[in-house]
This record gives sequence, C-alpha cells and structure tokens, in this order.
Amino acid sequence: MEVETFRREARAWLTDAVAALREDFPGRPLTDMALRRTFEDRLCAAGWSGLGWPEAEGGRGLPIELIAAFHEEYARSGAPKGVNIIGHGILGPTLLLSGSEEQKRRFLPGILANTEIWCQGYSEPDAGSDLAALRTRAERDGAEYVVTGQKIWTSFAHIADWCFLLVRTDASAPKHKGISFLLVDMKAPGITVRPIRQMDGQQEFNEVFFDGVRVPLANRVGEENAGWGIAMAAASFERATYFIPRLVQMEEELRDLVALCRETLRDGRPLSDDPLVRDGLARSFLDMQALKLHARSMLAAAARHEQPGPEGSFIKLLWSESHQRLLDLALAVIGPEAALGPDEPSARRRRHWQHDHLWSRAETILAGTSEIQRNVVGERVLGLPR
Ligand SMILES: Cc1cc2nc3c(=O)[nH]c(=O)nc-3n(C[C@H](O)[C@H](O)[C@H](O)COP(=O)(O)OP(=O)(O)OC[C@H]3O[C@@H](n4cnc5c(N)ncnc54)[C@H](O)[C@@H]3O)c2cc1C
Repeated sequence: MEVETFRREARAWLTDAVAALREDFPGRPLTDMALRRTFEDRLCAAGWSGLGWPEAEGGRGLPIELIAAFHEEYARSGAPKGVNIIGHGILGPTLLLSGSEEQKRRFLPGILANTEIWCQGYSEPDAGSDLAALRTRAERDGAEYVVTGQKIWTSFAHIADWCFLLVRTDASAPKHKGISFLLVDMKAPGITVRPIRQMDGQQEFNEVFFDGVRVPLANRVGEENAGWGIAMAAASFERATYFIPRLVQMEEELRDLVALCRETLRDGRPLSDDPLVRDGLARSFLDMQALKLHARSMLAAAARHEQPGPEGSFIKLLWSESHQRLLDLALAVIGPEAALGPDEPSARRRRHWQHDHLWSRAETILAGTSEIQRNVVGERVLGLPR
C-alpha cells in the first residue's frame, strides 16, 4: 500500500477516535489510566495492533515505512499513550522470535486484542544499570519453578495480568549465563505489588515482591540459562520506530514554546526578543534537526533489514538530554508561576509544561541512563578504551 493512502486512513481513524474519547471522558487528563486503556482497546479492536507482525500470527505484516507513518500520525493526533506498550512493543516481538508454538498460540492473541496487559520485571534494587547482577531466583520443583526475590520500577505492574521476568536459575554460572526468561501470571499466589508515586503525581511504576511463586516450566521462553540473550534481543525491538512519536512531540513542543515566548512580556517586550531565550530556542531547533537526521538514517537501516547497532545509544542520549533542555527553557520562560501546584487556577493553563518537565527527568534514566549510553558510544561507536 502507498504510504500517503495509509497515512490518510490512519489519520482519519485517529481523528474520529480521539474525538469520541474526549466525549466519553470529558475533562479527564490524557494520563488517566482508564482513558488510556479504553483508547488502546479501541485501537486494537480496529486492527491497529501488530502492524509489523506476520499475518500468519494475526498481525498485518506491514513494512517499516507504513509503521513509521502510523507512529507519526498517532503522535500528531493527540491520542493518549497506551498501557500495554510493553506487551505490544517488547513481549510480542520476543515471542515471535524465541517463543514456542504453544506460547505464541497462548499469548499473542491476548496482546493483539489488548485483553492481557504485560509488565517487564528486570530491574532490582541492586541491579539496574548492571542488570546481570540480578538476584531474584527460580528453583526447580517438579514441573514448576519457585520464584523468590524483588523487582523495582516495574511499570504497569499494578494493572498487569502478566509479567515477563528475568530470574537467576544457576547461581554458580558467570552472571550473564545463569539467567532465564519466565512468563509469570500476576494473579499467582505469593506476588505483592506495591505502587510507587512519581514526582509528577502519577503512579505508573511499582515494587513487586515474589515469595515462593510457582511458575510452570512451560512458561520459560527459550532454554534454561539462555535468558540474557533473549532479553538483549527484546531490547532492540522497536528501536527504529521508538523515537518517532517522541520527535513529533518535541517538534510540537518547540513550536508551542516559540509561541509562548512571543506572547510572554517582560519589561514590556516579548521574551522572543531576549538574546538568551533566542539562543536556547535556536539550540533546541538544531538539536531537533540532528535528531531527525539520525532517526531517518535508523529507519533507512531498518528498511534494509539491518540489525540496530550501538548508534541507537547516541540518539537516546541526544533526545533525552535535548528534551530536558527544551523543557528547562519552557519553565524559565513561564517564570515563578511554574512553581505553583497544578491545581492553582493561574497554573492550570501551563500545567502540561510542568508535568512534562517533571516527567522528562525519567528520560535520562529509563532504557539505560545517560552515563551508560555514553559508555556505549565511547566504547562501541568511537572505539575508545574501556
Ligand atoms: C519511568 C521509568 C520506568 C521504568 N520502567 C521499568 C520497567 O518497566 N521494568 C524494569 O525492569 N525497569 C524499569 N525501569 C528501571 C530502569 O531500567 C532503571 O532505572 C535503569 O536501568 C537504571 O538503573 P538504576 O535505577 O538501578 O540506577 P543505577 O544503575 O543504580 O545507577 C545509579 C547512577 O549510577 C550511574 N552508573 C551506574 N553504572 C554506571 C557505569 N558503569 N558507568 C557510569 N555510570 C554508572 C547511573 O548512570 C546512574 O546515574 C524504569 C525506570 C524509569 C525511570
């Protein structure tokens, strides 16, 4: 199908669906979980999930150019983010690559239809950047594993039906070699989920405790102790399209920020005349151009079916840090009003800047911190010594 035809079709559906959502959830913010879930359910029911998955597995088998166009239209439509991002973006492609036929039959339909929400249990209190240091253990007992340990920062665990979990199955092996990848029912006895409130007021991630949780051996993906390779392959899924909605969002924020600078007067003159403000806006504009070129080259590589390389670390670093710079500038432009709580009437108008600024602090941490990305770029792109 031609990209423009597909784009028009996607835009038309998204426009109508966003309008219907606003009517059904009047006044509710886009961060509201029920609103997000409803929108994602409707999206899946209309056939907009599994765009790149093979048709034989219930997907649409679309090429990367069309998937990229869909992500752009989604970001422009003002639609809320989904709640099963991890199921659609990570677990689904992982099962397609490494799952057994039985696992694919059991779990892929629930992701496509959004009837089963997934979370990712990797990080632990003493194993974040050094993920292979994880200590949650799974011991065999007949046809089951018995899982004991703790995960942290587990996004969506409080609403998830299932969790894919990295566990240690061989304590005597070198640390990357004794890890397995399990699919765990979040309703299993012995699981406790403790929500963590974020500084933006939302509550999206959790601590998760496993106390003798029984998991069938059949729920292990791949061989025992081969979980590290599966987790690393999972991390590369969607890398090519991950940044598209984020760059569309950033471009719109930059446009809104220029407008805000024009309408904000200081000493009788618009802030858009202030040389320091202009300098910040120009810097953000240049960051955007560099990011768009990198994103385009990543997409071109994906269209040629090349494996994503360590260059993805560079774009993650540049995006997360330049996004924080843009939002720092927005708060400086708003001035002292930015410090008012979101319920202050005068602050309400500017609330999204406050919220996005707070949320952006997470962007240099999640999916690998800036320091870790710099290590990857230094060692694997620039060839610097360790
Ligand atoms: C919004 C959000 C959602 C998340 N969702 C999930 C989820 O769903 N599932 C999940 O498993 N995890 C999730 N995480 C966790 C995330 O993957 C970790 O926070 C991240 O990997 C960093 O680990 P850490 O927090 O333990 O920090 P640490 O690894 O303890 O790092 C602390 C500091 O030390 C620095 N540092 C560490 N090692 C090095 C090094 N070798 N060289 C230089 N500096 C170093 C880091 O850069 C950082 O500044 C989420 C995090 C966030 C913010």
